[in-house]
Amino acid sequence: MNDCLFCKIASGEIPSKKIAESDDIYAFEDVNPQAPTHILLIPKKHVPSNLELVDGDKKVVGQIFLMANEIAAQLGIDQTGFRVVTNCGANAGQAVSHIHFHLLGGREMSWPPG
Ligand code: 5GP
Ligand code: ZN
Repeated sequence: MNDCLFCKIASGEIPSKKIAESDDIYAFEDVNPQAPTHILLIPKKHVPSNLELVDGDKKVVGQIFLMANEIAAQLGIDQTGFRVVTNCGANAGQAVSHIHFHLLGGREMSWPPG
């Protein structure tokens, strides 16, 4: 049985605010936004984190970055700037064990991240 929260969101079993979708990717609003725009992009395939990515996932990771660009343009943050972030493991603060890419924008961000 797959008990993964983001697999359930991608399949529609758990509701979410969908922003975009393709055969292999689902993008939705983060429930606890850290910026005026905060979208999560996930592969529909269950991959727990960066560390479990395999050769066959190269294409979908590239497609996620291209979809993030499209969403950034749709939501009007492409020209002001945005960040695409993936947290991997405990020290990075990864809370959900299904790889996800945060698209953040709509405000100025500092560097380095906390
Ligand atoms: P992480 O800390 O693992 O990189 O990020 C997990 C993200 O998932 C957090 O930003 C958190 O707000 C978001 N999140 C957790 N549970 C849910 C949920 O049920 N629905 C949505 N839309 N986002 C969630
Ligand atoms: Zn999953």
